Amino acid sequence: MTDVDGVASAEANPVTRRLTDWDRARLTALANTYGTPLYVQDLDRVRQNCARMRSAFPDADVRYAVKAHTGRAVLETVREAGLDAECASAGEVDRALTAGFTGERVHYTAVNPPARDLDRVVDIAAEAPAMTITLGAVDTLDRLTERGYDGRACLRVNPGVGAGHHAKVRTGAAPKFGIPYDRAERVAREAATRVDVVGIHAHAGSGIDADDLEDHRSLVSRMGSLARSLTAPATDELAADSADDGQIVTDPLALEYVDVGGGFGVPYRADEPPLDLDAVAEATRDALGVLPGVDLAVEPGRYVVADAGVLLTRVNTVKPTASEVVVGVDAGMTDLLRPAMYDAYHPIRLLGGATAAPAPADRESTSVTVAGPICETGDVFCRDRRIERPVRGDLLAVGITGAYGYEMASQYNSRPRSAEVALAGGDARLVRRRERHADLTRVERDATADADDETGGSR
Ligand SMILES: *Cc1c(COP(=O)(O)O)cnc(C)c1O
Repeated sequence: MTDVDGVASAEANPVTRRLTDWDRARLTALANTYGTPLYVQDLDRVRQNCARMRSAFPDADVRYAVKAHTGRAVLETVREAGLDAECASAGEVDRALTAGFTGERVHYTAVNPPARDLDRVVDIAAEAPAMTITLGAVDTLDRLTERGYDGRACLRVNPGVGAGHHAKVRTGAAPKFGIPYDRAERVAREAATRVDVVGIHAHAGSGIDADDLEDHRSLVSRMGSLARSLTAPATDELAADSADDGQIVTDPLALEYVDVGGGFGVPYRADEPPLDLDAVAEATRDALGVLPGVDLAVEPGRYVVADAGVLLTRVNTVKPTASEVVVGVDAGMTDLLRPAMYDAYHPIRLLGGATAAPAPADRESTSVTVAGPICETGDVFCRDRRIERPVRGDLLAVGITGAYGYEMASQYNSRPRSAEVALAGGDARLVRRRERHADLTRVERDATADADDETGGSR
């Protein structure tokens, strides 16, 4: 692999960028120019994160899990940094291709794929046969071959090991994902009679930290054993056992890679230590064992983009109550769902800026609940957090929102989605315009127009 650009020094490329590392004046100027709520995504930081990943895993295929942030500017940055694209839907495959990823750098992981997705991806694969489709169920293979697909495939295995920061993101042991480990060899050898089996894949979940390293190790070591079985001839027992009810390939399979998934954690809290990526990489290589000719692949999503993003929001109301101060802001769970959905912690910093208010450093700290404008009790970014006391008109920055931030945004409560600005060098560029009220009703108006078309015009 080529040298890793972007790593100047540890100082220029810290392991985690904290909310306090962002320049207050610059964020304030952006909010004043583009309005709030505003997502800010720093492409230089995305580049650094890619470089750190590649230098920790120099021999591995590093595939960015696109679902963490699908913005085109981010995808182009990741592509230029040498990562592949790991896509969870046909829509993401389309986005990756549009951002310039060639077919061989696109990996589509079909999780219970809707027919429309399979139709689209099989069409794309006809044009870009180097693309790989990862299957998590035998009947997904049936559905692909029914559509004439006989291209590159990878088998998603359920390793029976889960990890992650919240039950909702632990996928490794969830029955929804992958072929059960004890059936995987047989299924892979059956699949190899119909498609080109080039890899095996498992993903334990999201938010792996030092405490989960043992789980990660056991997942990787199980995948290493499976790969060794598949790259050897099938045992007589397996061959005999399969003879009755179907064909298997008994020769060694030409696996290109073992993909052990993503889930590399990011320290959202200031006192959390960052993940020791080199230690994770070493544990991974160690647990995988010797696999001649087979590459390791990893799929970081969050790690690549999380600390490259902040969400800026303006204080609308300040309401003192007996227990705390409720700070009402113009962003809510429709902009950033993670606190409401996963009880996720995000750092929050007062940037100030309200007319005639003292600078943040000159204010007393107080316990605040930061609440959004949505009619839901869960629509709060934090409870009982001590920050310098905000007043109406101030700006707040919510940190480490670059992953699963804009991506999970919705229009619930008829709230238009926020704008997003991308930073590169000294430049700022609007990459997603703020939605307008007209955007909220567009699909209804389009439906009426379509219906009119079908009936030969409006009546
Ligand atoms: C979501 C996902 C990832 C990335 O997870 P992160 O926690 O963002 O690193 C990788 N692989 C698969 C299959 C995923 O679904």
